[in-house]
Amino acid sequence: MVSKPRLYITVVFCVWMLLIGSSAAWNMAQLQRSQENTHLESARAFFNQLLIMRAWNSQYGGVYVPVSPGVQPNPYLEVPKRDVTTTDGMALTLINPAYMTRLVAELSSREHNIKFHITSLKPIRPANAAVDWEAQALRSFENRNVKEYHAYFNNGKYTEFRYMAPLMVEESCLKCHVKQGYKMGDVRGGISVSYAVGVEQPWVLLFSHLLIAMTGGGMILFYGKKLADNMGMLENLSTIDGLTKIYNRRYFEETLTREYEYSRRNGTPLVVCICDIDHFKPYNDSYGHQAGDDSLAAVAHAMSSVLKRPGDLVARYGGEEFGIILPNTSLEGGLAIGNMLRAKVQSLQISHRASIAGSTLTISMGLAVLTGGELGRDQLIKLADQSLYLAKAGGRNLVVAKQALENVGG
Ligand code: GH3
Ligand code: MG
Ligand code: MG
Repeated sequence: MVSKPRLYITVVFCVWMLLIGSSAAWNMAQLQRSQENTHLESARAFFNQLLIMRAWNSQYGGVYVPVSPGVQPNPYLEVPKRDVTTTDGMALTLINPAYMTRLVAELSSREHNIKFHITSLKPIRPANAAVDWEAQALRSFENRNVKEYHAYFNNGKYTEFRYMAPLMVEESCLKCHVKQGYKMGDVRGGISVSYAVGVEQPWVLLFSHLLIAMTGGGMILFYGKKLADNMGMLENLSTIDGLTKIYNRRYFEETLTREYEYSRRNGTPLVVCICDIDHFKPYNDSYGHQAGDDSLAAVAHAMSSVLKRPGDLVARYGGEEFGIILPNTSLEGGLAIGNMLRAKVQSLQISHRASIAGSTLTISMGLAVLTGGELGRDQLIKLADQSLYLAKAGGRNLVVAKQALENVGG
């Protein structure tokens, strides 16, 4: 069974790990959000700049530029005076906002790695047709009234940030786009902006959290174990007798109260014994106090080795006296166990030249049994004490229960 302190330490450790894990997850999400915001703001700025350029173009009804290999007349621009020649013979062609966007897009992707694409679900110029993600964005603008679209896309070599916002039909657009069936306020198409981004990996964040988790977790385990050990030691000190290493009087009394209540409630028999080493004073006098202590510990150890049932208890009652509790045990059973204990101590063959009861160290035992509810708890102990007195008076090395005097040895 896991001890209480260890359970608490495990809980504290898990809570700590959970806290650090949550903090790492929250910080990573924040970092990702802030990166995404930066990318989005940049894309919006590119898009808005393009809109301003287009508005500038549009307010003049297009602008003329010299025809060159890179700027050919726009075959999709069906307006009068699309192509003009200056008085000195230079060929000029009209560049409308859409054509200008395309030319700027070409320049930008060539020199700045930022890709613009003016596109529509119904393009006048087939090459302006939307690619898949653009078409999906355009449909969301048209059908779901979405104001802008953005996403990351990894093409295997680098990550691209994709942004798109709609171009709405304005009055100036209708001149060229009315034949496509557009009305004012319709989504005429959109301009996509995409560019490669360096997505910052949160290694520093992960590493620092891991370090904090390990340091804190290690400290919790280290100091927790120390605390648990100390608590275990304190618990031991409060229930275990220092000399004999068996339970002490305090634990005996607590257990007796518990077992007495249990027996009374359930009507089960309960045997209580008080046991005393015979002629121990002369033993001390003869062999010395240290030898007395050693023999006390040996007797205690021998007696606890006899009791096998989990509920049975032997404790140091005081001096060279022991208390024994045998739950759910009849008088006959108690006498049998008492005699086993007595025989076990005798079998240690601890020589006792000053004993009148024999040549080796022996014990006497007084036994009381609770069968019904008539005896009080303290009366039960008193009865066991009286039985012990009878055992001593009967010659020692005896087990006695109430009036029944049982001479089994010596
Ligand atoms: P009896 O057979 O009538 O019990 O004779 P006894 O000499 O054992 O008498 P009693 O039980 O009154 O004497 C108790 C003695 O046990 C007193 C003391 O010398 C010894 N004793 C009690 N506690 C300890 C202990 O912790 N260590 C040692 N070495 N001796 C102890
Ligand atoms: Mg005594
Ligand atoms: Mg004694």
